[in-house]
Amino acid sequence: LTILGLESSCDDTGAAVVRLRGNVPEILSNIVIGQAELHEAFGGVVPELAARAHAEKIDIAVEQALDAAGLTLAQVDAVAVTAGPGLIGGVLSGVMCAKGIAAGAGLPLVGVNHLAGHALTPRLTDGLPFPYLMLLVSGGHCQFLIAHGPDRFERLGGTIDDAPGEAFDKCARLLGLPQPGGPSVEKAARNGDPSRFTLPRPLLDRPGCDMSFSGLKTALLRARDGIVAEKGGLTQQDRNDLCAGFQAAVADVLSEKTRRALARYLELQSEAPAIAVAGGVAANTLLRTRLQDVAGEAGTSFVAPPLALCTDNAAMIAWAGLEMFRTGRQSGMDLAARPRWPLDDRSPALLGSGK
Ligand code: ATP
Ligand code: FE
Repeated sequence: LTILGLESSCDDTGAAVVRLRGNVPEILSNIVIGQAELHEAFGGVVPELAARAHAEKIDIAVEQALDAAGLTLAQVDAVAVTAGPGLIGGVLSGVMCAKGIAAGAGLPLVGVNHLAGHALTPRLTDGLPFPYLMLLVSGGHCQFLIAHGPDRFERLGGTIDDAPGEAFDKCARLLGLPQPGGPSVEKAARNGDPSRFTLPRPLLDRPGCDMSFSGLKTALLRARDGIVAEKGGLTQQDRNDLCAGFQAAVADVLSEKTRRALARYLELQSEAPAIAVAGGVAANTLLRTRLQDVAGEAGTSFVAPPLALCTDNAAMIAWAGLEMFRTGRQSGMDLAARPRWPLDDRSPALLGSGK
């Protein structure tokens, strides 16, 4: 089974080919055309610019993905495409392109939830069996899910305001560090003292798996302004310490809430599920270490995909499409682009002939 996947929901245009041989998935190609320079001057992704760039680049990405895989469309079994959630203009570019390919080459079309792509990645990289506890933590999302099947996710809790990736980006902006913020904050934090500034751990005093990150941003802003008021500016060491304090707070909240998600699962089941993480923030080394510790305490395993498969990519979309397609799900030509699409919402219109 060989699937071509398309991704265009944010600021990366992606196309990839994933093949399943026996039970072993293989990424034959994974092309990502980034738009970082395009949005750099604006300090964030500009939806109109992103949409136009996706429309211009998606065909090129598809061509490159097929070339790199050494295949023609005739050797592909289905086209999978991110149908949401995301920036509508970009998602539309992908969906239109996929429909064109499906119609032109007579291939089945599979609409994929971008978040399912992230959440199913540990199965692509590590063959992780269902069920598992997934911490999906990215630029726009943060939630705990029990993954039961390719399109069966049970939400245990999540952020009530910002996503951690967004908070990392904001942190970088406040400190004058380059975007995307996650990697620059992590880099600065390496030479910082996490105990110099004590930032809050929002919602840790409350039961359950819900989280909040917006107060953390405000606390960081206050700490920064405090230093500026006192000394007239920030030294590199100040920046490093602020980043270290910020990263430690995020890692504390995410790891403690993972403990609680696990505890909640164990109220109903006797055995701890494997813990997996995905989404761009899963690239963070401190977070990975802390989650590994939580899994160790619970006597279960921890799976974190390689960094390139944690951030947006089309291989995860091809894989999620493959998982759906092989269990009989596919979409019609009326597949709609959805800016919002919660993962625990099984829309019959989108899942088509889904069982
Ligand atoms: P979503 O998947 O929710 O639509 P997105 O596609 O924008 O959001 P991803 O590509 O999954 O998000 O992840 C991008 C985010 O990950 C950015 O906010 C970035 O700052 C963050 N990130 C990347 N690397 C790191 C890191 N090493 N530490 C922390 N955050 C990171
Ligand atoms: Fe994403």
